[in-house]
Amino acid sequence: MEQRKQSSEEQSPVPERKRLVIATNNAGKLREYKELLSPFGFEVISMREAGFSEEIVEDGDTFEENAHIKARAVFEATGIPTMADDSGLEIDFLDGAPGVYSARYAGEGATDAERCEKVLSEMHDVARELREARFVCSIYFIYDDENEYSVSGEVRGYIGDEPLGENGFGYDPIFMLDEDESMATISDEEKNKISHRANAFQKLAEILEEKFK
Ligand code: IMP
Repeated sequence: MEQRKQSSEEQSPVPERKRLVIATNNAGKLREYKELLSPFGFEVISMREAGFSEEIVEDGDTFEENAHIKARAVFEATGIPTMADDSGLEIDFLDGAPGVYSARYAGEGATDAERCEKVLSEMHDVARELREARFVCSIYFIYDDENEYSVSGEVRGYIGDEPLGENGFGYDPIFMLDEDESMATISDEEKNKISHRANAFQKLAEILEEKFK
C-alpha cells in the first residue's frame, strides 16, 4: 500500500500558519521538509520546539511501521500535526537486509564507511546480476485523528564492488546507478531529483496539493 487516507472526504483548509512537527532530530531533514512544506502554509517546527524530548523505540518490521510509530508518538504527546519518515537500503541477495536495521547494521557507533564495508564483505564475489538493491523511504503524516497518510518512494540500483564517490552519506558510495556512477558521485541537486526521499516527497506533495492547498 503506497498511500492511505483513513477518513474524511472534507477538504480541510489549513488555518494560517498551522504548525506541523517533523519527528526527526536531523537538521538536514528538517530543512528539506521546511522547503517541501513551505507552499502549503505550514509552519514547520522540530520535535524540540514542540516540547518533545522522549526516546522513541522504533521496533517496527517495515519502514512504514517505523514512520507510523514515530509520527504517532509525537502526535499523541503534542497534539500537533506530525510528519515522520524512515528509510534505508534493501539488498535482494541479503533478503532485504540491512532494511530497517540500516542505521545500526554494523553495530551502534559504527561509521558509514564501516557499514559500507560490512555490506561489501557480505556481497564479496556475488555476481552483478544478483547485486540488485533499492533505497526506500516511507513518510507518515498524521494531520488529526481522522486524517492520516502514508506514502513510500524508492530508487533502484545495485551494490558496487567498492566504494565510489565522496558526496551524499550512508550507503551512497556503494549504491551504483550505472557502471561509472554511484549515488555518491552525483551532486546533491541530482540526488534530490531521483532519490527515494524525493519520490516519497512527490507523492506526499500530491496529497497536500489536493487536501491542503
Ligand atoms: P533514517 O531514515 O534517517 O533512520 O536512515 C536510516 C539509515 O538508512 C541511514 O543511517 C543510512 O545508513 C541509510 N540511508 C537512508 N537514506 C539514505 C540515503 O539517501 N543514502 C544512503 N544511505 C541512506
